[in-house]
Amino acid sequence: MKREDVTATKVSYSFLKILTGSDLSRRRLPFMRAISGNPGPAVWLTACAHGDEVSGIVIIQEIFRKVRKGKLLRGSLYAFPLMNPIGFEAGSRNITLSKEDLNRSFPGNEHGSLAERIAHRIFTTVVHTNPDVVLDLHSGWMKSIPHTLIDPDPGPDHREVYTRTRTFGEKTGFLLILDTDELKKSLSYSLIQHDVPALTIELGESCVVNEKNVEYGVQSVLNVLSYLEMIVPTPPFSYQIPQLLRGEALKFSDQPFSSSSGIIRFLSKPGDFVRKGQPVAKIHNTFGKLQETIVALNDGIVLGHSDSSVAFPGSPVLAFGVPMTT
Ligand SMILES: [Zn+2]
Repeated sequence: MKREDVTATKVSYSFLKILTGSDLSRRRLPFMRAISGNPGPAVWLTACAHGDEVSGIVIIQEIFRKVRKGKLLRGSLYAFPLMNPIGFEAGSRNITLSKEDLNRSFPGNEHGSLAERIAHRIFTTVVHTNPDVVLDLHSGWMKSIPHTLIDPDPGPDHREVYTRTRTFGEKTGFLLILDTDELKKSLSYSLIQHDVPALTIELGESCVVNEKNVEYGVQSVLNVLSYLEMIVPTPPFSYQIPQLLRGEALKFSDQPFSSSSGIIRFLSKPGDFVRKGQPVAKIHNTFGKLQETIVALNDGIVLGHSDSSVAFPGSPVLAFGVPMTT
């Protein structure tokens, strides 16, 4: 009799029901699982909570392709590759039927709005597996450089999970950016509140699959799986950023906002290191008269710039990663 290979990885694809439409069609959440024959950590990959942020879907496909080929050494890998299929098909960030932002609807409510019901389905399924870490894949602005976003420190009650989240963040190989806004209803923040380490990976460029960012994303996930000894170790990946800021966690800043209306011309590009006081954008009116020069408020790295060159008072122009001490 052939002996069973206890280390074989079982890969399965299935669906969770989320909605029955007015035409009685069923909408479903694709659900992917790879379970090793050896016990070990549980890792979740989630993507496309914002329907136009599509690269994460492909990253998950590539990771499962590798896992199927090379097998998981131990543990379980789970994924929701397309959390917002309704927004995805319409090329929209939000759930188009209800115009809600899924990533502002967690942990959800089974009796709530459409987004809250989908969020509840996702959240309960993820938490049920008692994960070691959840990596939520996003795309940020069109020209953003890839970075890992960590939610604000949730305070002493969740300090331990926050510390683990920071460690996983360092393992992603991306620049670590500490968010300054509490996005309380995001997937990652809600998971941390439930003592599950969770990170948001912002890869840049929405709407189309950016192959370079897919490559970075795959390498980053492999870093984390290697760290947890779930796969044969891969050469560590790290995204190259200016020497001056390497190894440092930075704070997110989208200041200064524009204070005038007009057309933005960017003077710095994502990935550039800028000095405090350095001009980073100019805003001209329709006749070409300079209205305003935007200068960097601190030394830092340009994470991305606005997807549009339309400026109006209070509109963000660029996003920066700045040292924590500023
Ligand atoms: Zn997003």
